[in-house]
Amino acid sequence: MKNVIIFGAPGSGKGTYSEEIVNRYGMGHISTGDVLRAQIKAGTELGKTAKNYIDNGQLLPDSLMIDILADTYDSMPAGKGVIFDGFPRTIPQAEALKEMLAKRNHDMGVMVELVVDEKVLLARLLNRAIEQGRADDNEETIKKRFAVYREQTAPLAEWFEKEGMRHTFVWKEGEMTKEDMLNNIYALLDTLK
Ligand code: AMP
Repeated sequence: MKNVIIFGAPGSGKGTYSEEIVNRYGMGHISTGDVLRAQIKAGTELGKTAKNYIDNGQLLPDSLMIDILADTYDSMPAGKGVIFDGFPRTIPQAEALKEMLAKRNHDMGVMVELVVDEKVLLARLLNRAIEQGRADDNEETIKKRFAVYREQTAPLAEWFEKEGMRHTFVWKEGEMTKEDMLNNIYALLDTLK
């Protein structure tokens, strides 16, 4: 299985769809947000640093994230492909990922872009706050995360376009189910070896 980069704004469903994709294709899953939340829970130095950024809706520095990503990637079973969920979020991170994979003779694979209207995202995240109690799912931090996404992450879509990797899936609120969205994604991933 090739690598997959799942890309989209906070609340676009990256984590949810990643889990389904992992179940279907048996690949590895790297969620940088989950890696950081585990460090916070374990009370490590990295966790303390991460918490300051996460609670403010800001991105951690690229150099730190790139090291974390490489270590996590190298700890995954080889040859099964990995879904990258929440990485890359900036152009330097994307360049670093490209270089890291090239060094290991691994393919970048495809990028799956989830496009969801911001009003829908806000409602979903406020709902997730009630269900999962994530500290960064409050309205103030959510708005900061949207701004960070628009300014630092969204421009990456063009970068993937130039790499010939971009595949866009648009959520049509009220017209689609989660299964419809997944089936569209599977139609792409089923064509990959
Ligand atoms: P997520 O669970 O993917 O929404 O990530 C939660 C938070 O973790 C983000 O708002 C950032 O503060 C931090 N984070 C996760 N991934 C990255 C990344 N690739 N680069 C910088 N910060 C990240």
